[in-house]
Amino acid sequence: MQTTLKSRVTFDGIGLHSGAPVTIVLHPAAANTGVVFRRVDLTGTPQLAAKWDSVIVSPLNTRLTNADGVTVSTIEHLMAALSGCGVHNVLVDIDGPEVPILDGSAATFVRGIVNAGLTRLSAPLRAIEILKDVSVSEGEAFAQLSPATSLQIDFAIDFADAAIGKQRKTLNMANGTFVRELCDSRTFCRSADVDAMRANGLALGGTMENAVVVDGATVLTPGGLRHADEAVRHKMLDALGDLYTAGAPILGRYTGTRSGHAMTNRLLRALFDDSSAWRWVNCDAKIAARLPGVGVSVADLNAVA
Ligand SMILES: [Zn+2]
Repeated sequence: MQTTLKSRVTFDGIGLHSGAPVTIVLHPAAANTGVVFRRVDLTGTPQLAAKWDSVIVSPLNTRLTNADGVTVSTIEHLMAALSGCGVHNVLVDIDGPEVPILDGSAATFVRGIVNAGLTRLSAPLRAIEILKDVSVSEGEAFAQLSPATSLQIDFAIDFADAAIGKQRKTLNMANGTFVRELCDSRTFCRSADVDAMRANGLALGGTMENAVVVDGATVLTPGGLRHADEAVRHKMLDALGDLYTAGAPILGRYTGTRSGHAMTNRLLRALFDDSSAWRWVNCDAKIAARLPGVGVSVADLNAVA
């Protein structure tokens, strides 16, 4: 069955790129709503469904837009939390153009969602089953979806900075793996890139408290890393969030090499362009038991930084 939140949850913070204060309120929603943002600061409260075909390609974050040019940016960590906690329907009221960055991970969202709890709705859940390999590539970057009985994420990165270097990790997202293994891994960036982003009016809200900043072999962020391979874990978190713009849980294996938000969106577009590459399946008990959010409990929060 589909789920929604038992009660509303509020998060306050600033936008990573805008630097502006913002509040989001997650409201319980009816079956078949999906994830829908409402810009409550704008006349008419325009709504934006968190779907792949409303995503603007950006290397730095995932942004939704509608026909009138209304946008909501940096949705990916919240989307990862919703996917990883098994929230299928939610209305997200937001009073600005960018989801708060909080600590740069999805941990705060996960804590709020898990503490609020979920309620089952009287409507069956459908998942997207991958039927054949679909891939996209650009230079050395590559992303692929292939058939698998549950959502698996296999990610590889290769950075010149020795503090990151080469990292590869594979995880099955079933049974709360996201909450225990990925949700507290933070956004990272190279100190050399910070000045460039600021010059372009980006990362204005970036601080040492909401991103891991590295310079060569040195981690500049006080307290250091939460996991030795925090960088690849965060890329997996991003992938989970971006994949949730498919509009339903995916049963398949995602392989990403130096991939990012734009590649994952291109991959979803390629998938939905090919009707022989996927199909809807009704989630019986066997399939439901393999979904990312099943079995997540308040005790799992003990593993979260
Ligand atoms: Zn991210």
